[in-house]
Amino acid sequence: MSSLPSSSHALLASLRAAFSGRMVSDPAGMAPWLRDYRQRWGGPALAVVQPDSTADVAAVVRWCVEHDAVIVPQGGNTGLTGASVPLGVPPSRLPSGAPPASADKAPSDDLDPSQARTTGGADARLRPVILLSLSRMQQVRSVDALASTMVVEAGCTLQAAQEAAAAHGRLFPLSLASEGSCTIGGNLATNAGGVQVLRYGNMRELCLGLEVVTADGQVWHGLNRLRKNNTGYDLRDLFIGAEGTLGIITAAVLKLYPQPAGQVAALVQLESPEQALALLAQAQGRLAAELTAFELISDAAMQLVLKNIPGSRLPFEAYPADAPLPWYVLLEVSSLHSEPAAQEGLEAVLSEALADGRVQDAVISQSLAQFEQLWALRENISAAQSHEGKNIKHDISVPISRIGEFIEAASRQIRQAYPDARLIVFGHLGDGNLHFNVAPHARFAQHYDEAFARDEALVNRLVHDLVAAYEGAISAEHGIGVLRQAELVRYKQPLELQMMRAIKQALDPQDRMNPGKLLPTPYTRTPYH
Ligand code: FAD
Repeated sequence: MSSLPSSSHALLASLRAAFSGRMVSDPAGMAPWLRDYRQRWGGPALAVVQPDSTADVAAVVRWCVEHDAVIVPQGGNTGLTGASVPLGVPPSRLPSGAPPASADKAPSDDLDPSQARTTGGADARLRPVILLSLSRMQQVRSVDALASTMVVEAGCTLQAAQEAAAAHGRLFPLSLASEGSCTIGGNLATNAGGVQVLRYGNMRELCLGLEVVTADGQVWHGLNRLRKNNTGYDLRDLFIGAEGTLGIITAAVLKLYPQPAGQVAALVQLESPEQALALLAQAQGRLAAELTAFELISDAAMQLVLKNIPGSRLPFEAYPADAPLPWYVLLEVSSLHSEPAAQEGLEAVLSEALADGRVQDAVISQSLAQFEQLWALRENISAAQSHEGKNIKHDISVPISRIGEFIEAASRQIRQAYPDARLIVFGHLGDGNLHFNVAPHARFAQHYDEAFARDEALVNRLVHDLVAAYEGAISAEHGIGVLRQAELVRYKQPLELQMMRAIKQALDPQDRMNPGKLLPTPYTRTPYH
C-alpha cells in the first residue's frame, strides 16, 4: 500500500467511507477481478466495489463522477474479448510525463503489450479505475408464470435464473457452457447467444425491459413487461450488446417459455458441412420449432475432447482410415408433449437421412445420462482446447447456406499460409455461427507472445477478409471488447461507426463507462489503418 500516490490514498479513504464493507482494495484481494477468463488481458484498479442495490450502483457512479474515475462493470468475468477487466498501460506507452495509472498495482509483465490500452479512454487522461462488480445483486425479484416473464437482477447467474424459471414451471432458454458463472447483466451486455438461439433467439430477443444506471448516476426505470410498446427509440436495445460502455444494467425483465415435456439429443456422423446443412434443412422441415439445437463439430475439435476430457467417449465405430475425416452434428429436439414424441420426431428425421446416405451413423440418447454425455462432447470443446495451449479464436457468422463453402475456402487459405495448421471448427450451425479456431503450428502456442501476435494478425486478416467477402460478421456472439476493435474499424461502414460514436457521446460524454472497450480510442492498435 505504501507505493500508492498520496492522492490515491485520499481517494481510497473517500471510497471506503462511502462503500465500506462492500469493496476490496488490496492487490491480492482484487487479483481475481483484474484478469480476464482467458488470462490474456488485465490491468490495475483503485478498488473493486460490490454494490448491493440499484441505489448503491447509482451512488458508486455518482462517486466516480465527482472524482473523475472510470468504471469497468463486471459480471461473471467469463467474457472472451477482454471487455470485463481494466486495461493495463505498460510504462513505455504512457504519454511522456504522465503519472502511472492511479492504482496500487502496475500491470503484470506478462500482459500482452500489443493489447495494452489506456485506462482513460479517448482523451488519454489517466483516471482512477473502479471495477464495479454486480456479484451482490443476485435477486430474482419476481416470476410471473402467467405472463411468462421474470424480473432478475444483473448479478444473478444464468443458471440461477434458469432454475428460478424452472421452479415456476417455465423455461428461460438461454444456454451457454459458462452458465454456472456468467450473469444476466453480462449476458445482456454481450447480447449472448449459445446453443438454443436457433429456437429462442439471443439475449436481445429474450429481454423485454431493463433497469439501468446511466453514466451520470441516474436510474432509468425501464422494466417494461409489455410485448408491444412502440413509443419511440428502443433504448433497451442500445444497452444490450453495449459491453458496459453506455451504462450499468442493474435488472431486466426476461421472457419465459413453456418447459418442454421431453428432450432428446442425437449425435450424427457425416462427411461434410454441406451434408450437415442438408440435414438441417430436413430437420427444420420436419420438426420446425421442436428443433432446439443444431451444433456442428469438426473431427479435430472432437478429438481434442476425447483426448483431454476424462470419461469422453465417441459412440461410433472407428471411421475407415482411408475415408475423409468425419464431421459431427449434435441435434436437440424438445417436445411440449412428451419424451417419446421428441424421440419419435428425431428418429423419423435420422432414419430418412441414414436411408438416403446423408448421414453415416447416428445415436439418439435414451436417458438423461446419455443426453448429458452427448452434450458434454460439445460443451467441453473450449476446455479441451485450453489443455493444449493457445489458439487464434474467431467467432464469426456467415449466411447459413454458404457456411460449407466458407469453411472450405478459409481452411484452404490457412493451410496455404500454415501447412501444419490445426483447425478447430465448431459452432452453432443452425445460426450460421462458427467458432473457427486456428492453431497455426503443429504445437499449440503456449504464450500470448510476439510470435503469437504475428501469426494472429495474419490469420485474422485471412479469416475476417473472407468473412467480409461472404457478407458475414466478425463477431457473432462474443462482442468486440478489445480483441476485435481493429476489425471493427476495418469492417464496419464509416457511417455505422460515426453513429455509434454519436450514441456514446450522447449517453456518456465523459467516456466514463468501460472506456477503451468496443469503440476504438487513439490508443487502439489498428494494424490495418
Ligand atoms: P463479463 O465477462 O463479466 O462481462 C462481459 C461484458 O459485459 C463486459 O463488457 C462487461 O463490462 C459487461 N457487463 C457485465 N455486467 C454488466 C452489467 N451489469 N451492466 C453493464 N455491462 C456489464 N458466449 C456466448 O454468447 N455464447 C456461448 O456459447 C458462450 N460460451 C462460452 C463458453 C465458455 C466456456 C466461456 C468461458 C464463455 C462463453 N461465452 C459464450 C462467453 C461469455 O460467457 C458470455 O459473453 C457471457 O454473456 C458473459 O457474461 P459475464 O457475466 O461473465 O460477463
